[in-house]
Amino acid sequence: MPPSPQPLHLRLLAWFDTHTGAATCDDHDHRVDWLRTLPFILLHLVCFAVLWTGVSLVAAMVCLALFGLRMFAITAVYHRLLAHRSYDAPRWLAFLGALVANSSGQRGPLWWAAHHRIHHRLSDEDGDLHSPQRAGLLGSHVLWFMTPGAFRTRLEAVPDLARRRELMLLDRFDTLAPAALAGGCFALGWALETWAPGLGTNGMQMLVWGFCISTVLCAHATFTVNSLAHTWGSRAYATSDSSRNNWFIALITLGEGWHNNHHRYPAATAQGFAWWQYDPTLWILRLFAALGLVSGLKPVPERILREGGYRNKDQS
Ligand SMILES: [Zn+2]
Ligand SMILES: [Zn+2]
Repeated sequence: MPPSPQPLHLRLLAWFDTHTGAATCDDHDHRVDWLRTLPFILLHLVCFAVLWTGVSLVAAMVCLALFGLRMFAITAVYHRLLAHRSYDAPRWLAFLGALVANSSGQRGPLWWAAHHRIHHRLSDEDGDLHSPQRAGLLGSHVLWFMTPGAFRTRLEAVPDLARRRELMLLDRFDTLAPAALAGGCFALGWALETWAPGLGTNGMQMLVWGFCISTVLCAHATFTVNSLAHTWGSRAYATSDSSRNNWFIALITLGEGWHNNHHRYPAATAQGFAWWQYDPTLWILRLFAALGLVSGLKPVPERILREGGYRNKDQS
């Protein structure tokens, strides 16, 4: 018998509050819930409004800036700090980074970190929700994100993070930050139209470029790590999973494409293990460490570098 969906009112409530009623999500239901994920689908559809709004230099620059800022927050904070604890950051900075990452619409910090820890524990085995070997390329890329099996925050995987009330709040109301950013983009476009009409933008154009297109690009770039970085690329390590090193994915995700390296030694802050492996997230974190903002960046042990054929000691 197919699993029964959540009651209608809980599926609608989850647009605003993801924790209330989460226990009624069936972790084994892998059918897309189109109603609950309607805001995510609409986000994609609104991108087509670009046909009416057109583009301006300032809107394209805001799109690029918000892509870069939020991608950095996803990789540096959601992934390397919260999921892997690969360096230390003060609580206020972790919250600020999680808030920025949260505005990218990839759900809350505990949800993200918990699913990712499970991915490392069960890579390409039963229970790994975004394995291309099990869910197919499209399933591992985006469809898994839209199924009840993926909706619940697996708090049991992140007991250390669940103690932080501020992260729990972000996680519970995970659409607030994206909604606020969308409103902020509209307001910025409106203000520029009013006070700097020469820039050729307006509220709707800035909403479409600054929020919708930027958020969709950021989401799908992140998703390539789950889909393509387990399908396409080279392998420095004979890990038991299908992870790959892929320079293109590293380019669009600020360094997350060295995924085979990362599966071999996820405790390290670095994902690029050679000097030439583009990993700007690591470089920025090193700068933050030099400024005293973060500390305890975890190195890659020399034996791991040697095992992967990396000769230089750049990341050790
Ligand atoms: Zn992986
Ligand atoms: Zn990871």
